[in-house]
Amino acid sequence: MSGSSIAERLSSVRERIARAEARAGRAAGSVTLVAVSKTKPVEAIREAYARGQRVFGENYVQELIEKHHALADLRDLELHFIGHLQTNKAKDVVRARATVETLDSPRLATELAKRAVNEGVRVPVLVQVNVAREAQKSGCDPDALEALIRHVRALSSLELRGLMTIPPHDDDLERLRPHFAALRALRDRHLDANATLSMGMSADLEVAIEEGATHVRVGTAIFGERS
Ligand SMILES: *Cc1c(COP(=O)(O)O)cnc(C)c1O
Repeated sequence: MSGSSIAERLSSVRERIARAEARAGRAAGSVTLVAVSKTKPVEAIREAYARGQRVFGENYVQELIEKHHALADLRDLELHFIGHLQTNKAKDVVRARATVETLDSPRLATELAKRAVNEGVRVPVLVQVNVAREAQKSGCDPDALEALIRHVRALSSLELRGLMTIPPHDDDLERLRPHFAALRALRDRHLDANATLSMGMSADLEVAIEEGATHVRVGTAIFGERS
């Protein structure tokens, strides 16, 4: 695949998503593709945009800011912040008008809400859940989710859209299924049935869609390996 273009890889990812939607009995087009463009140049984003891609994911605050400015002419571009967010960078992410997929603490929620008020905007957020309770991983513990959701809902400048997770790495994709199912169960318990479930990446998007993903975050399969 390394010789193929972004346009070709993007259409093969779209085909994978469409096949998974059909197999899982999901409506065609019900899964949103978040193209993860971290470490890739703005030209790569423009190429995908020219092929109809509108939602892009970034992991690093500095890079998010630079791309937000460099791509300001693309008015309907939607940037999602999917990296670990430190409280002292909340302001920058709000200024870049990004959706925050990695909200994982009351403290970060309060800070984002304050910055959103200052900027006069509402910030769309997903709560990142550490479904497997991995010690080294960020994300809210499943047992702390209910309290965090209550905290976020009390902050009117945040718009809670749903949940996101990054399961433990596993080459056996079937072993990821229970983690995706766990996020879905948490969504069904605490949020609306149609709230966002951001889960699944290049290697495992089919399993995630079968388990109910509404958003898949795909980098390598669209933009190639990162150096
Ligand atoms: C990098 C990244 C992705 C994309 O991973 P690929 O394997 O390149 O598709 C998705 N989600 C998060 C949180 C990431 O950091």
